[in-house]
Amino acid sequence: VSLPETGPPLIGVLGGGQLGRMLALAGIPMGLRFRFLEPGQDSPVRGVGEVVRARWDDPDALRRFCDGLDVVTYEFENVPVGVVGQISEWGRVSPPSRALAAAQDRLSEKELFRRLGVQTAPFLPVGTRDELVEAVRTLDFPSVLKTRQMGYDGKGQRFLRGHEDVASAWEALGDHPLMLEGFIAFERELSVIGVRGQDGTVAFYPVSVNEHREGILRTTRAPSPGVSPQRQDEAERIAASLLHELDYVGVLAVELFDTADGLLANEMAPRVHNSGHWTQDGAVTSQFENHLRAVLGLPLGSVAPRGWSAMVNLIGSLPDQRAILAVPGCHLHLYDKEPRAGRKLGHVNVVADTPEALKERLERLLAIVEGEAESLVPQAAQASQSP
Ligand code: AMP
Repeated sequence: VSLPETGPPLIGVLGGGQLGRMLALAGIPMGLRFRFLEPGQDSPVRGVGEVVRARWDDPDALRRFCDGLDVVTYEFENVPVGVVGQISEWGRVSPPSRALAAAQDRLSEKELFRRLGVQTAPFLPVGTRDELVEAVRTLDFPSVLKTRQMGYDGKGQRFLRGHEDVASAWEALGDHPLMLEGFIAFERELSVIGVRGQDGTVAFYPVSVNEHREGILRTTRAPSPGVSPQRQDEAERIAASLLHELDYVGVLAVELFDTADGLLANEMAPRVHNSGHWTQDGAVTSQFENHLRAVLGLPLGSVAPRGWSAMVNLIGSLPDQRAILAVPGCHLHLYDKEPRAGRKLGHVNVVADTPEALKERLERLLAIVEGEAESLVPQAAQASQSP
């Protein structure tokens, strides 16, 4: 399939969050148009395309959404698989719904990794309290109890340090299908973003080094001088085996734990990913543009880095934008969202010609972003003291 001869291509996107917004911002210069299916109000995609606001299971809305689309993709990985199956009867959906189904269930995701020979933390399914006790006996402490579904940004999981944590973890999560994982004392968290075109061509961005805070991605660095060519190869082999196995088309992200014994896969996201946002300013072709090229059957663009990059997420409140833009190499990306605690409101990409210059710029940037976060604390304290 290639670009239609008549009219600009219309891309349907399931979900209307910031990832959808950034897909559109990458596609509009290529002459693409976008339509989003999004249940929520005031989503970040208003202004970058047409929005069909409806529940996922509203058949009329689904038909309206699909009418005249050239291809359907998603930016939200918890779209019900049944909805994607229904849409596939009417037209082409990329990435394949199999990838979505695997990513929606942590257990089947880890089983898929294992089947492909990809190392993971040891894990066991947990359906009952007795199974939890049994799993704890096998995997021991520390371990991590996770819901199989709907977990993201560290939600739906409890760390078990000892027997005293078991009852409260079961209390909190026991209503859901669960799994227990052995705790991995990783050195750092990495991710690899791969893309596969319709002709089977694959490409991989330089591995990102990620730092999380309270379960939410805080900063990403890529390329990183600390990532050896061996680690890059290892990460690419993991992503490549998933891309081929799933007959995947589009961008796929795999989150990894770097350990003394090699890389372990923690989870995958069948979509563009927060740890790939640096590619907007720090790679020849961004992950968003490459995803669109892939799903439209167009040639992929170069994934080569342009210098050394980092990304800092703006979470909860927006810092002084003028100060940020005064730091050389910084680019601001805002999502048009109302500030709220723990909410991703935007990110800043910073690019430099050398790792040393990047370090200096990133330190300046973080001082501005963190300074803002700190300045909120006294305000909150004052508010709570006032009558
Ligand atoms: P997840 O929701 O699986 O991405 O987990 C969120 C975060 O929890 C990860 O980014 C890790 O920092 C941490 N984590 C998850 N699973 C494990 C594990 N088995 N061992 C150690 N840390 C983990």
